[in-house]
Amino acid sequence: MYARPFIDSLDFAENGKEIKGEVPFAGMPRLLDELESPDGVLQYTVRGGVDKLDVPFLHVVMTGDCRLQCQRCLGALEHEIRIDTRLLLRDQAELDALDAQEGDEEEFDSVLASTQFDVLSMLEEEILLSLPISPRHESGACQAKGGESAGNGKENPFAALANLKVVK
Ligand SMILES: [Zn+2]
Repeated sequence: MYARPFIDSLDFAENGKEIKGEVPFAGMPRLLDELESPDGVLQYTVRGGVDKLDVPFLHVVMTGDCRLQCQRCLGALEHEIRIDTRLLLRDQAELDALDAQEGDEEEFDSVLASTQFDVLSMLEEEILLSLPISPRHESGACQAKGGESAGNGKENPFAALANLKVVK
């Protein structure tokens, strides 16, 4: 199995630490809700640093191939996860202040710094934000055809997984 990494995020950033790892999509329950299949593995690298304005950050790189469910035909839709982003570490007061300045778009997203920063939860959140809201095959590749009823009474082979999900 894989280890669920927790980091002291400020220490991690200020000392330029790095972790790399792999996690199966099956280990990310919120993401799993959006996937057609639990198959596949996410590879990630998280590197800490401090920017020119002295703001600590995490640089996050993720790659992995997952399968979404086409909203038209309910078939599998291959999706490449390619994320390369920077998250600024802020304390709660700074986040509140940022929330208050509406319309002031920041270049990078901010996350709450913590001494017990849950790396997988952050990765999962970033993936969820990156997914298309309503994934669909391109019209030529979609199995949905007018007149045919979707599903056809076939059982969803992944329905059983719903019972296996970890309680959040
Ligand atoms: Zn489709």
